[in-house]
Amino acid sequence: MTHVLEHAKRLAKTFELSDEDVQQCSNAFVGELRLGLKQKTPSMCQIPTFVTQIAGGHEKGISLDVDLGGTNLRVCSVELHGDATSTVLQSQLPVPPSIMACDQAAGLFSFIANRIRDFLKIYHQSWLDAAANDHKAPFLSLGFTFSFPAYQTALDSGILLHWTKGFDILDAVNQDVCKLLQTEIDILKLPVKVAALVNDAVGTVMSRAYSLPPSHVRPTVDAIFGTGTNGVYLQALSEVTKPIEGLSGSPSRSMFMSTEWGVNPGNQMFEKRVSGMFLGEILRLAVLGLCDDGQAQLFRGFATHNSSLPKRWSVDSSIVSVAEADNSKGLPVLSQKISDTFGIPEDFVTTEDAHAVKLIAHGMGTRAARLAGMAVGSVIIQGRLLDTQGATTDTGPGKGGCKVDVAVDGSVVEHYPGFEVHMTKAPKVLDGIGDAGESNIIIGHTKDGSSVGAAIIALLASRDI
Ligand code: ADP
Ligand code: MG
Repeated sequence: MTHVLEHAKRLAKTFELSDEDVQQCSNAFVGELRLGLKQKTPSMCQIPTFVTQIAGGHEKGISLDVDLGGTNLRVCSVELHGDATSTVLQSQLPVPPSIMACDQAAGLFSFIANRIRDFLKIYHQSWLDAAANDHKAPFLSLGFTFSFPAYQTALDSGILLHWTKGFDILDAVNQDVCKLLQTEIDILKLPVKVAALVNDAVGTVMSRAYSLPPSHVRPTVDAIFGTGTNGVYLQALSEVTKPIEGLSGSPSRSMFMSTEWGVNPGNQMFEKRVSGMFLGEILRLAVLGLCDDGQAQLFRGFATHNSSLPKRWSVDSSIVSVAEADNSKGLPVLSQKISDTFGIPEDFVTTEDAHAVKLIAHGMGTRAARLAGMAVGSVIIQGRLLDTQGATTDTGPGKGGCKVDVAVDGSVVEHYPGFEVHMTKAPKVLDGIGDAGESNIIIGHTKDGSSVGAAIIALLASRDI
């Protein structure tokens, strides 16, 4: 083996996680999950979602979703046909900067209410007509997919803790975002009731639940591996000893908890190693380290200060996927991507260099996928989802021969070749799972399900009343 590859191989080895390492991580992870059920301010927050039932696929009806993400506002209607199929109509538009940062909460929420009215005018005029003619006409339930930190005290109520992603409307902080939206909807006299505040992970699990045939076990875990990472799982409430406002007197036995496993201050190593936001940056640092090692002679010693390698955050995670996917002789696709991504002239990128980058990317990518599987396995263990005695939903049947169905979504799991395979294999090394348990875990990719799932959650909630 030539020099540069030896160096790369040594570096890649530092990313390896043995089975014992995975077990140890899981022990710590399950410990954090348990603390999150007891303490008020733990490092893994374990936020109650107030979702206690799961769709069976036979539901019928129509409901709405509004999804306020980082840049776009999406409004959609979801009609469930009762046979695991649905019709989704949707509109999307960017949120103008003047609305993202304004003085009054009403500025943003009246903008959203007006977009709901526009949407209904185009696709569901009959609901507007019915409401205009009869003030007792039925209303449409709306799920609000809100990707900002909010403290939920009921399914249809959440206090905004602070804004992120460039939004800045001080007036809305510490207010109930569902109420703010409902007020503006009522001003426009729309036949719409905000019935649920939903995070994208719990929306995704509900969307998968509806789309599966009735004979299939209901999903009880969802894991998102995108810009960030989060997981939700079904947890027996008897083990939740921290006070949950709004829960007293609830007859439910279990609830989906949002672990917030990516965001645990002081201990964010998991998110750094797994999520899309960081994979490119880790690769950049590793490659830069190899360049700076004069002996390795990566890129024929091309001066790194003439490339974009020293620039922080300059590398998108997609290069990790390209490195894994290019298996052709000479690695032409990866070589081109290296040249473009790192700003290194093509002549300086040899096939060996590309192989070196591939080795490093493979090491990092495999580590990320194994850690992802460790996290999925850990929530399965904590929720005792493989046991007959584990958590069940209000609508059951949560169990089906103790199989566990896991919905997953996000660009990293979607695009990184082999991520899903490594993620699926990792849980079997855990004591609480083993070979038998692993064969009972079903992983299902559920693309962009959160809006549909939020609309379903809103529909089910309105039937509870
Ligand atoms: P969001 O997190 O906003 O829901 P995504 O699930 O699409 O969006 O995740 C976006 C993240 O995935 C970004 O951090 C991006 O760098 C990363 N990403 C995009 N494409 C790929 C790819 N081909 N391989 C690995 N990571 C990717
Ligand atoms: Mg997403």
